Amino acid sequence: MKSLIKNIAKSLIPNKLVSYNLPTQQVYLTFDDGPEPTVTPKLLDLLDLYKVKTTFFIVGKTAKSHPKILQDIHQRGHVLANHSYYHVKFNNISLKEQLSEITKTNLIIKQVTGKKTKFFRPPQGIWTLKLLFKLFTLKMTLAHWSRDSLDCRNLTPQEIIANFKQHPVKNGDIILFHDDDEKVIAILQELLPYWLKSNIKFSPLT
Ligand SMILES: [Zn+2]
Repeated sequence: MKSLIKNIAKSLIPNKLVSYNLPTQQVYLTFDDGPEPTVTPKLLDLLDLYKVKTTFFIVGKTAKSHPKILQDIHQRGHVLANHSYYHVKFNNISLKEQLSEITKTNLIIKQVTGKKTKFFRPPQGIWTLKLLFKLFTLKMTLAHWSRDSLDCRNLTPQEIIANFKQHPVKNGDIILFHDDDEKVIAILQELLPYWLKSNIKFSPLT
């Protein structure tokens, strides 16, 4: 049922409000749940090596403890986006609390970028139309994903890599990864050169 509603919403709600995928010739790598000191700096070096720019959906509370990494993400040309403050399930808290999660994290990002945050992704991708309307009034876009790397599941990097090779990414895809587990490094060490060789162009969400 939930996926049916999502699918209907997907076709009815404009991309400006909810980005599931985008009508472009590029692919969007996104990283949730960081910054994580044991993973994010390594990931940034890897992305630099291949000159790939991406989007980081940071958790406010975690980001507050690692301002240097947050700054580094921004300075290296990636987009900082909002993934809530405490990373609690949004269906367990009130709309007022949801908004507080969003504004608190926007503030942390603004201290680094000097700019308003454009993209928000709720924990577990759980959202309501009420939240969507609020985001609209905040001039923010809810960024979902069109492709889950499944790096949160109990799969090895090799299994995830094989899955991407069997089912190639498509232009416009927004791909979900997590930078709170070192697994992402092993996956992208192999996939980034593979994708670039296949002529895939990457961009941060804009
Ligand atoms: Zn998350």
